Amino acid sequence: MFDKILIANRGEIALRILRAAKELGIATVAVHSTADAEAMHVKLADESVCLGPPPARDSYLNIPSLLAACEITGAEALHPGYGFLAENARFAEILADHHIAFVGPKPEHIRIMGDKIEAKRTVTRLGIPCVPGSAGAIKEDSEAISVAKELGYPVLVKASAGGGGRGMKVARSADELSVALETARIESKAAFGDDSVYLEKYLEKPRHIEVQVLGDGAGKAIHLGERECSLQRRHQKVWEECPSPALNSSQRFEIGEICAAAMRKLGYAGLGTIEFLYEDGQFYFIEMNTRIQVEHPVTEMVTGVDLVNEQIKIAAGSPLTLTQDDITISGHAIECRVNAENAATFRPSPGTIAYYHPPGGLGVRVDSAVYGGYTIPPTYDSLVGKLIVHGRTRNEALMRLRRSLDEFIIDGIDTTIPLFQTLVRNADIQNGLYDIHWLEKFLATGG
Ligand code: ADP
Repeated sequence: MFDKILIANRGEIALRILRAAKELGIATVAVHSTADAEAMHVKLADESVCLGPPPARDSYLNIPSLLAACEITGAEALHPGYGFLAENARFAEILADHHIAFVGPKPEHIRIMGDKIEAKRTVTRLGIPCVPGSAGAIKEDSEAISVAKELGYPVLVKASAGGGGRGMKVARSADELSVALETARIESKAAFGDDSVYLEKYLEKPRHIEVQVLGDGAGKAIHLGERECSLQRRHQKVWEECPSPALNSSQRFEIGEICAAAMRKLGYAGLGTIEFLYEDGQFYFIEMNTRIQVEHPVTEMVTGVDLVNEQIKIAAGSPLTLTQDDITISGHAIECRVNAENAATFRPSPGTIAYYHPPGGLGVRVDSAVYGGYTIPPTYDSLVGKLIVHGRTRNEALMRLRRSLDEFIIDGIDTTIPLFQTLVRNADIQNGLYDIHWLEKFLATGG
């Protein structure tokens, strides 16, 4: 096992990784920008290194500074968390060249899954069902129009390098398609420096269901059930559950086994999430994420497996000791992503937290790096914390969520807690009857 690990991230995920490292007896190094000198992950780490000024490109994305920080502190491994450099294959290769273990999969697998066209090609070969679409990148508008005719409208133009919902445009006719291609290309070029786009059948009312996988790169891989992430705003997840209210245990096992078998064939090492749209009983692959995800705690709550601990052990070269039979889905978990935003307008609300009181009690977990008196810098994302509840049944989890939200006090800034207080009392949510468009429609009609 490693003696010392550097955590190349901030906020709640830096703290989450720090906790797993401490429980493995590994010394921790925090890194931070000048804006984060007072951050909780810095205070709790054994050592800390300032990387540079607030903009991420000068600090959390600054590869030479991160390498220097590893060298100065003698860290043997680096955990990237999510975002920043977590899915940068080149960064993983540079670390390998410097004999620093990257807590993540092999660089070639990060690279394949980072290119959505290549990812679809690869997983199709591995037996995973995909959304029908163009065979690869679309070069000419005329080609797009003939593919769209075959698929049937509506179609979705997607960026091969896409992420965070950017470069995605729906087209309901050939005329709309020309405009959609052009705007998706411009958006993708601006955001990712790559204008290759492809076409997919636009599914009208799917759910977003994703499968958690874990492999050791040496032929062993298991799945840890699915997460339901259909409640989204602007393609960003807002509320996640495990298990999905839409699946029964045989459907769960079937798709889980397809994913685990694919990862065995690929020789995948570490944690991964295979994302699907689910409509009329069919699963359609959209992308694979090769990192720990924001919503991982709901899986941890129902399986009892510490996913970050497993990730670190695999990066240290340990074989996977968990077997599929060790994984049982027990009860139900729900996560709410609490953001520093106005709950009605979603306007960001950075500032100083005057008073902070997290909820507690049986089955309640808060993953957050804020505290009373802490000032949220305006430079980074607006996640203040994740409230996760676990109950023996979905109903118990919903009641626990309702009372936890009512206990949660974050004074001094606006948060999205009031939105969740409304959602948890909504009949569609209580009945699990929602698709990926439900939340936007709900918000558009004034809640
Ligand atoms: P990104 O990497 O930008 O987040 P994804 O491919 O993961 O892009 O898609 C994000 C979200 O966009 C999905 O969760 C879903 O809500 C929507 N989406 C993606 N593909 C389709 C599709 N073919 N039909 C309908 N909605 C889609």
